[in-house]
Amino acid sequence: MQTIRIEKTTCPKEKPGNDNPLTFGTIFTDHMFEVDYEEGRGWYDPRIVPYHKLELDPSSMVFHYGQEMFEGLKAYKTEDGRVLLFRPDKNIERANRSNRRLCIPEIPEDLFLEGLKTVVNVDQDWIPTKPGTSLYIRPFVIATDPFLGVRPSNTYKFMIILSPVGAYYASGLDPVKIWIEDEYVRAVKGGIGEAKTGGNYVASLASQVKAHDEGYSQVLWLDGVHRKYIEEVGAMNIFFKINGVVITPELNGSILPGVTRDSVIALCKKWGVAVEERKISVDEVVAAARTGAMEECFGTGTAAVISPVGELRFEEDRMSVGGGKIGELTQKLYDSITGIQLGIMEGPEGWSVEVK
Ligand SMILES: *Cc1c(COP(=O)(O)O)cnc(C)c1O
Repeated sequence: MQTIRIEKTTCPKEKPGNDNPLTFGTIFTDHMFEVDYEEGRGWYDPRIVPYHKLELDPSSMVFHYGQEMFEGLKAYKTEDGRVLLFRPDKNIERANRSNRRLCIPEIPEDLFLEGLKTVVNVDQDWIPTKPGTSLYIRPFVIATDPFLGVRPSNTYKFMIILSPVGAYYASGLDPVKIWIEDEYVRAVKGGIGEAKTGGNYVASLASQVKAHDEGYSQVLWLDGVHRKYIEEVGAMNIFFKINGVVITPELNGSILPGVTRDSVIALCKKWGVAVEERKISVDEVVAAARTGAMEECFGTGTAAVISPVGELRFEEDRMSVGGGKIGELTQKLYDSITGIQLGIMEGPEGWSVEVK
């Protein structure tokens, strides 16, 4: 593997104090990882450099046709000062799956992992330690050919930036209210729904704005063909606990395969909790919520980890879930996953990767 050169900043920024609540994704650390790609040459000149602005040609393809891929994971500092990544191999594998769908060249796994570890190591003093805080890691690739024609770019830039973050929702682990969307859709099978890319996010904005205006914090997406089956909630995967069984939509080509989703399924299986990956219709969800058969509902994603749902709104119907309180399993999953992430609890083999 190519060695990563390191150019340290000569003017470090002031770090956020421990007293200020950190909001999500507003503060960035002193350094970033950067590597370039050129057709015929491959990925070259991997480096850690001071966090900086980019200078790009206005015709760069990413601005016009959205050829880009991103990832999201977190680093945590343990009480004894070790730095842990949570299942980074999963993110690297998914990044290259997204890249293949988006006609972006794959990134060698060892280079990706070494880039992650090196930049986190260089900026490890930025990892906040208060409960609920962590260092959010954002790897991303952009297409940089200066060209307005439509084809895959021949040049790319892969970067990793870091942001100290607090709890994703200002309200903490309070249950959120969810709007079931039956007008817009996020993604369709055959499209780019299972790739992590900006295009899926811009497709979601109009619905998110509408839901916010109505007092709801996230949107529950239905499938794009029948507008019938549950897919995801906002930018999270979704789980229901109905009559003691944990149910999550099966990966169907339009759902993003979340690392947190995979971790929740693995933990439930380990604990002997019945878990089903299958189609689940909005009618089944509404019926279960109305009769009280729905005991718990929560979203899963790196940013919030586990996000309990306290209310579902479908058309004119408002349905409370679990009396608007956090369910027992929801809380246990949150405590276990964050416990493993922080090195307080022992997770399955390979889930915690130490940065040295
Ligand atoms: C990133 C993402 C998720 C959650 O994935 P994690 O790996 O658990 O963070 C779910 N849905 C969408 C649309 C996403 O982009």
